[in-house]
Amino acid sequence: RAKAQGGNRYELADPDLDARAISRHSLTNRLPAALEGAEFFIEYQPLVRMADGCVEGAEALVRWDHPRHGVLGPDRFIPLAEHTGLIVPLGRWVLEQAVRQACEWQVRGIGGTRQLRVNVNLSPRQLHHPHLVADTVSVLQNAGLPPESLCLEVTESALIRADDDELKPLRQLAELGVGIALDDFGTGYSNLASLRRLPASTLKLDRSFTQGLQQHPADPVDLRVVEGIVSLAHALELSVTVEGVETASQADQLRTLGCDSAQGWYYARPGPPERFSAQMAMAAGQ
Ligand code: C2E
Ligand code: MG
Ligand code: MG
Ligand code: MG
Repeated sequence: RAKAQGGNRYELADPDLDARAISRHSLTNRLPAALEGAEFFIEYQPLVRMADGCVEGAEALVRWDHPRHGVLGPDRFIPLAEHTGLIVPLGRWVLEQAVRQACEWQVRGIGGTRQLRVNVNLSPRQLHHPHLVADTVSVLQNAGLPPESLCLEVTESALIRADDDELKPLRQLAELGVGIALDDFGTGYSNLASLRRLPASTLKLDRSFTQGLQQHPADPVDLRVVEGIVSLAHALELSVTVEGVETASQADQLRTLGCDSAQGWYYARPGPPERFSAQMAMAAGQ
């Protein structure tokens, strides 16, 4: 079956495509059992303050250890879970694990005098779930984690479509002290007016901007675009975290452009929580 995708793009039926469709179908069917059977796990990737290289916390990134297909990244299954609604219990599980982990790090004094923060991604379906505020508050209270040590990441595209009623839960969480980050910023179509009304504390500049700084020397237009976004964010009292920093040169340029924090393979890849604690302990010992 050929399916029109707007314009003159067509998808022709081919065995590869069918295989992918079947595997999507089987992945979707297996999601509930996978959650029951504890096949999901979380990796943590450090968030680094650019001024001095101090680790401020980590982003929690979920993975699925599929018994037949091996470890699957979130891009393979989050959209499926979002579609079926399983993202709500799965997302709650991620939140619980991540909050408990951050609490453990704080209790153990990992990160020294600084209170490490944990960032958790929220999907649009979770954003619109009526229990978001109550669930989040109870997860924080059960673990004993201060709300300031949690940051929820919501994609720019999920937020700009939201009206004031839909933003209310996030506003309530922000008032409690929970950080809100605009994830993948620059890939949606935000305008100044919509940015201003969002209860966000941080803007996460999408990896595509970081990739633009790969060339030597970087395109001056690319540099000015990032500089412009950073000054806009600062004018709106948002801190800026850059995603996908892979090289020292990118880190240097982004620091010079005024970015506050960074995340990327140059600093550390996502890894198990023990690796994060070990890295922190090593940094403290130096
Ligand atoms: P994201 O929130 O934008 O997360 C950053 C992604 O960039 C992660 O991909 C991370 O592994 C990757 N990354 C980090 N540093 C670098 C780098 O230097 N270079 C490159 N090329 N990539 C880097 P990952 O783990 O595959 O996650 C993909 C997306 O899945 C996330 O994008 C997030 O939107 C979503 N996701 C992950 N965990 C969850 C979750 O628990 N709930 C929900 N709803 N979504 C999640
Ligand atoms: Mg994120
Ligand atoms: Mg992101
Ligand atoms: Mg991204």
